[in-house]
Amino acid sequence: MIDQAKNFLKDVFGYDEFRPLQADIIENVLRKKDTLVLMPTGGGKSLCYQIPALIFQGLTVVVSPLISLMKDQVEQLRESGVAAVFLNSSLTASEYGRNVDRIKQNSVKLLYLAPESLLKSDMLEMLSSVRIDCLAIDEAHCISAWGHDFRPEYTQLIQVRSRFQDAACIALTATATPRVREDIKNNLGFDTSNEFISSFNRENLFVQIVPKANPLEQAIGFIKKFPEESGIIYCFSRRQVNDLYAILKQEGFSVKPYHAGLSEKERNQNQELFVRDDVGIIVATIAFGMGIDKPNVRFVLHYDLPQNIESYYQEIGRAGRDGLKSHCLLLFGYGDIQKIKYFINQKNDHEKRVANIHLNALLQFAETHDCRRIPLLNYFGEAYSTPKCSMCDNCLAEKKELVDITVPAQKFLSCVKRTGERFGAAHVIDVLKGSQVQKVFKFGHQDLSTYGIGTEYSKKQWLHLSRQLLHKGLMIQDTEFGSLKLTEKVWDVFKGKETVLGSLEEQQPAGNAPEQPEKNPACDRNLFEILRKKRKELADQASIPPYVIFSDKSLIEMAAFFPQTRESLLDIHGVGELKSEKYGAVFVKIIKEYCHTHNIESRPRRTRTQIAGNDRSLRKKRHVVIGEAYNSGQSVSRIMTGFNIKQITVLDHLYKYLQEGNSLKPDEFLTLSTIPPDQKTAVLETFDRLGSELLRVVFDALNGDVDYEELKILRLCYLTGD
Ligand code: ADP
Ligand code: ZN
Repeated sequence: MIDQAKNFLKDVFGYDEFRPLQADIIENVLRKKDTLVLMPTGGGKSLCYQIPALIFQGLTVVVSPLISLMKDQVEQLRESGVAAVFLNSSLTASEYGRNVDRIKQNSVKLLYLAPESLLKSDMLEMLSSVRIDCLAIDEAHCISAWGHDFRPEYTQLIQVRSRFQDAACIALTATATPRVREDIKNNLGFDTSNEFISSFNRENLFVQIVPKANPLEQAIGFIKKFPEESGIIYCFSRRQVNDLYAILKQEGFSVKPYHAGLSEKERNQNQELFVRDDVGIIVATIAFGMGIDKPNVRFVLHYDLPQNIESYYQEIGRAGRDGLKSHCLLLFGYGDIQKIKYFINQKNDHEKRVANIHLNALLQFAETHDCRRIPLLNYFGEAYSTPKCSMCDNCLAEKKELVDITVPAQKFLSCVKRTGERFGAAHVIDVLKGSQVQKVFKFGHQDLSTYGIGTEYSKKQWLHLSRQLLHKGLMIQDTEFGSLKLTEKVWDVFKGKETVLGSLEEQQPAGNAPEQPEKNPACDRNLFEILRKKRKELADQASIPPYVIFSDKSLIEMAAFFPQTRESLLDIHGVGELKSEKYGAVFVKIIKEYCHTHNIESRPRRTRTQIAGNDRSLRKKRHVVIGEAYNSGQSVSRIMTGFNIKQITVLDHLYKYLQEGNSLKPDEFLTLSTIPPDQKTAVLETFDRLGSELLRVVFDALNGDVDYEELKILRLCYLTGD
C-alpha cells in the first residue's frame, strides 16, 4: 500500500520523497488506526490524510475551522486533479446542491467541513448514506480549552466518530503542549499507541535577533534585501502598524496593513492581495496569519518583541512553508520589555505569573550566545543537540570575545545581597550607581557599602550584565515580583574561586552584522521572472493564488534545469500529472524559447544533488578564505582589519585550515610572539612532549604562565616549522 502512496505522491503532487513520518502516518491511517499527528506549521500535515483519501474507496471528511483555509486547500487539490469539495455558507444554493450530489454519487474523495456544519443533523444524515473511510480533524488543538484557540463545537466531534465506526480517525495540530495533546486524545477516545510527533525544528528558517537601535532604518535596510518577494512585518500595536505602513508606502514599498481595527472587508482584501502576490509586504499585528497558507513568505520581521516564544514560533512559522530558505529577524529592544511588563501588570495574579514565566523564557532566547535553536526547541520539549545549525545568527557569528567580568559581577551580586534579595535589577542598579531617587532613601540604601560603587558602567551595561548573571544561574528572578535572589553558585564567585566570563557591551546592531544565511539555490533569474509573470497571469485568469498553480520552488527548478519537454517537466519538484497536462505546454514553450534565444541546453534534474554539491563547494568556508588570503601574502593584521576580526580569531581560522591538510607559509608567526626567547623554547618543548592538540594541557603544564593567544601563535610556528 505504501508503494501506492508513493506513486500518488509523485503523480498527483509531484514530490519525490515523503518527509519524515509522513509514510508511517499514512500507513497507520490506511490500517484504520487512530492517529495523532503533531507537526510544525509547514511540516506537511495535509498529505497525511490526502494521500490515504486517494487510496480509500470511500469518502474522507476533513474538519477544518476556517473557511478561508478550506477554500484554499480545495483549490490546491483540484489543481492537482483530486476530487475535493467543501460545503459551507459561502456557496450558492446550486453549488451546494451540486456538491451534495457528487458526494452521494461517491465521486468525491475529500469533503471539507467546519465542525458546526458537520454536527448538523441533516448533514450527518446525508453522510450516513455514503461510505466514510476517514475522519480527519485539522487544527485539533481547538478541542482543548487549554489551547490558544478553543472551539466548543470541536468537543462534540466524538459523536461523529462513534457514528462512523469504520472510519479511521486522524487528528492533526501544530500545537504541541502535552496538556493539549492529552485533551485531544481523551476527547476523541484515542488510545496512546499511535502518536506521531515530528521535530519542530524548521531547518530552512534563518533566525536572527539584533538589538533595536534605529528600528525604521533597520527595517528598511532589511526588507530592501527582498525585492519582489513576500514578507510579513509584525508590530506590537495597531498604531505602530498604521505608522509603519504609512512610512513604507511613502518609501515606495508594495505594502498593506492588517489589524483588528480595520473593517473585515479591508482585512480580507489586504490578505487576498498578499496571497495573490499583488502586494509584497503586510505590516500587521498578531491578528494576521491564522488561515494563511501562502508558501512563499520569504521573511518575517518582528519590529517589536513578540508576546512569548510560542507566538513567536508560530509567527516565524509562516515563513518558508515551501521549504526554501527564509529569514526571520527580530529587533530586540529593552524598551519593548517594559511595554509587555506593563500589560502583564494589568493581569490577575495567576495570569501574571504565567505571563512572567513566558516573558523570561523569551528573554533567555533573545540573549543567548548559543545556537538559537537550543532554547527555542527546548521550549517545545525537544532537545536540540547539533553543535551548529548554520541557520541562526549565533552559529554564523565569529565567536564573541568573552572578557573577565568577575569584579562587576561581584559588585552586582553583593548589592543584591545587601538590599535583602527583595528588589529587581532597576533598584539594584540605582544603588550601585549612587542614585538620588526616593526609593533608595526610603529603604536607607544610601548607607549600604555597595551604594555608589558602580558608577563606571552605564545603566544599560549593568542591565545587560544582570541578565548574564541570570543566564549563568548565579541569580534567579522571582517570576511574580521580579525580585532577584542569589543561588548557591554565587559563593564561589564571592570567594574569587570562580571567574565570570561575559560581555559588557551588547552586540552590534544589524547592518554591521556580517551574518547572512545561505542563499536559495541558484537559477536563471530572468527566466524565473518570466515564468513568474506567466504564473500570475494564469492565476488571475482562474482567480486563484499563484502558488496554487506552481510553487516558487517549482519555478526555481524550471529556471535551473530548463526542462523542454512535458516529460522532463514531470521531474520538477511539485509538478504532477494533472498540472503538467494543464500548464505544461505553456511553461515548456516559454522555457524553450528562452533557451533558444540564449543558447542554453536543458539539464537533467537528476544531476540536481551534484549541482547542489558543487554549488556548496563554491561557497568557501571562512577558514579557507582566510587561509588562502594568508598564503597569498596578506599579513595577519591586514586580515584582521579586512575581516573585522581579532588576532586570536585569525589564528583559530588558520589552525583549522592547517588541520584540514593545507599548508601555510611559515614566515610571519614568530614575529607575532611577544614572550622572551627562553619561554618560547619552553613552550615548543612542551608541544614536543605533550602534543599541540590540547592547549589546555600545555597551558597547565606551563602553570598558566603563557596565555592562550601566545600559545596559539607558537602552535602555528611549531606546526609550520617557522
Ligand atoms: P502544514 O499543514 O503542516 O502546515 P502543509 O500540509 O500545508 O503543511 O505542507 C506545507 C508544504 O509542504 C506544502 O506546500 C506541501 O505541498 C509541501 N509538502 C508536503 N509534503 C511534502 C513532501 N513529501 N515533499 C515535498 N513537499 C511537501
Ligand atoms: Zn544555530
